[in-house]
Parts: sequence; structure tokens; C-alpha cells
Amino acid sequence: TFVPASRVSRIKVSPSTAAAARARELKAAGRDIADLTVGEPDFDTPEDVKAAAHAAIDRGETKYTSVNGTPALRKAIIGDFAKRVGIQYADNEICVGGGAKQILFLALMASVENGAEVIIPAPYWVSYPDMVIANEGTPVIVACPEEVGFKLTAEALERAITPKTLWLILNAPSNPTGAAYDEAELKAIGKVLLRHPHVMVLSDDIYDQVWFRDEPMKTLVAVVPELKDRVLLTNGVSKSYAMTGWRIGYGAGPGALIAAINKLQSQMSSCPSSVSQAAAAHALANDQKFVSESVAVYKQRRDYTCARLNAIPGLSCMVPDGAFYLYPSCAGVIGKKTPDGKIIENDLDFVLYLLDGVGVAALQGAAYGLSPYFRISFATSMKVIEDACNRIEQAAAALS
Ligand code: PLP
Repeated sequence: TFVPASRVSRIKVSPSTAAAARARELKAAGRDIADLTVGEPDFDTPEDVKAAAHAAIDRGETKYTSVNGTPALRKAIIGDFAKRVGIQYADNEICVGGGAKQILFLALMASVENGAEVIIPAPYWVSYPDMVIANEGTPVIVACPEEVGFKLTAEALERAITPKTLWLILNAPSNPTGAAYDEAELKAIGKVLLRHPHVMVLSDDIYDQVWFRDEPMKTLVAVVPELKDRVLLTNGVSKSYAMTGWRIGYGAGPGALIAAINKLQSQMSSCPSSVSQAAAAHALANDQKFVSESVAVYKQRRDYTCARLNAIPGLSCMVPDGAFYLYPSCAGVIGKKTPDGKIIENDLDFVLYLLDGVGVAALQGAAYGLSPYFRISFATSMKVIEDACNRIEQAAAALS
């Protein structure tokens, strides 16, 4: 029988992917499931983006591209960063991959070894610790409680840095909390980083256009441009343009790191899909009213869902600034008894109770590194959201 290498046995399957699969299985088995595990827009890819892909196929753009992507895509990425982040990147400072996930993995693979430390503020996107572990690094988890808005403070960062620290991972708006940093908070973080020149920053901005506030979303390198040579900015078309299945993500950062990523990419996949690159270049280079239209819909859903959850005794929910997730606390139901006489000991018990009791699929906060919370996604129809809120209300009321 096959025995996987230790780098495989050290890590786990992404819990969000596993939970989504479980919800799909239950649905296929005929159970009526209100699925709130979805990590992708429920909208279709914009028509003009699809047309750009058809046109690329018709022009015969169906061959390998250069490892760092087509010139048109790189130009569109550089233009988008210049416009929205305010930083002008050079052509050799851009890499592209099969999703931002691949860029993040390659960046760690290109840099981490011998237990190098990677600071990961919790709650975190489920993939970061395993990506670090797979690449023989040491995740250093820093708890960022709700009292500080689920955000890394300058003090907490200062305490976590050691001589072995290689990376800090920042993700805002965050999956799972939707929290994002204001200018003063980023300045304070930047000040700490300027004192520790050996620390680099992975700035995962994949949700930066799913943004609900009036003032523009701020990212570290825009606020502290002195850090430009130490920040890898990653982004992609998945979330902003409803293009998760096209698998295009990209990074911008120091040329030496980008060259290392591209070297690995040359041996790993040669390049991402040429057709998807054409579609992504079109999405980035042309104004997409889709973004503002979809964000307006997400915002209505956010407001509705937060209000409903906050009205349920035992639950409470911070209003997120961006992304399409809520991270409600279930502290008020811990210790209560289900109608079957089972005590809810933790957030996993609570999400299992929601699934078994009322058919709502959500994810336990333990998977994101901060309990007792659970993550729900509002990237689903209002009908599903209303139904799910009714069921959660009913489940909470049945506890004693
Ligand atoms: N980063 C975060 C925080 C995410 O939530 C996701 C997707 O769920 C990604 C990165 C990866 O996006 P993609 O690989 O589709 O570009």
C-alpha cells in the first residue's frame, strides 16, 4: 500500500473544502441542507469576460504562455495595482499562477526552510498553517480576539517576532472575519516591521474589492511604501469577478522573490491556462460594473444576516467591512443542552448540532484558530440565507 511522504501526512485536507463536500454529499443523499459553507461568489462570471475567453480561443491562444503570464495579463495586473494600490510595479516584479492559492504556496516554497517562522494572525484562512507546514516552516499563531476587532495589533506583532521570523501573513478583508485595517493600524504595524528588517510580509488582498465601507480599503504597502521590497502582494480574479473556476491569481513583489517563484513555476505547471489568462486580463483592464453591483447585493445580505443573528439569544456577530463571511460568536450557547440531551461543549459541537438538528452547514471556528465562533458565508441567495437564519433561530431556541 502507498505511504505518502511526510510532507503530506503532516498536513490536513482544507477543512472548508471538506465541509463543502460534506454538505454536497448530504444534499445528494436527499437531505434538505441550507449550505452556508460556500467560499465563492454565487454570481456567474460577467458576460464580457466569457466573451474575451471565447475570442482568445478563436485567435488560437491555446498554447503555453511564458511562465510569468502573457504580456497582456501582466500589463493589466500592473495597471490594476497602479490604479487601486497606487504602486507602480515593474514587469519583473509580477508573477501569475493557477489561483492566488498557488502563488501563496509557491512563495512559501521559494523561501521557507529549516523551521523558519511564519506569523499567522488568528482567526486565519485555513490554508496558511498547512502551507507553511508542508514547506517545513513553523506557523506562529497569534490570537487576535474580537475585542481588538480580530486584528493583529502592533504590540502583538512585536511580541511574536523572533530572529527566526521570515514572514508575517496579513489577510484583509479577512476570511473568516471580514476585518480590515485602517491607516493608523497599518502605520503602527509598519513601524514595527521597519524595526525588524528581516521580516517579509505576505499581503493576501484577494477580497479587497468585496468592500462595504465608503472610504477605500487600505493595504500595508500603500500606507508604508518603504516596505515595498519586503511585501508580496497577492490577489486574483476569483472573488472580485466571480471567476473561481478560471484559476488565475497573481503576485507583485521584490524581483528576486518573483524570480524564485517563477523558477519553481517553470518546473511545476509551466504557466496557468492561456484562455483563463485572456479572460483575467480582460476583467482587470476593463471597468467591471459587476464589482459594484455584486458588492451592493452582498452588503444587503450582510446587513440582513447580521441583524438576524444578533437577534438570536446566545449568538453575537461583528459587522464585517469586507469579504462575504460572518464570524459569529457562539459563546452564549456553550454549556447548553440539545433536545437529544447532548451538551454543546465547543464550536464544533454547535456546528454539528446545526447540521444534524436543522440542516444548516457552517464551519467551526476551531478550524480558523479562534473559538468559540463559527463561519458562515453570505455568498448565497437571499432565499437560502433567510431559510438558514430561521433554522438557526429554531435550533438556538431548542437549547436548554
Ligand atoms: N486567500 C484567501 C483568504 C481565500 O479565502 C482564498 C479562497 O478561498 C484564496 C486566497 C485563494 O483564492 P484563489 O486561489 O481562488 O485565487
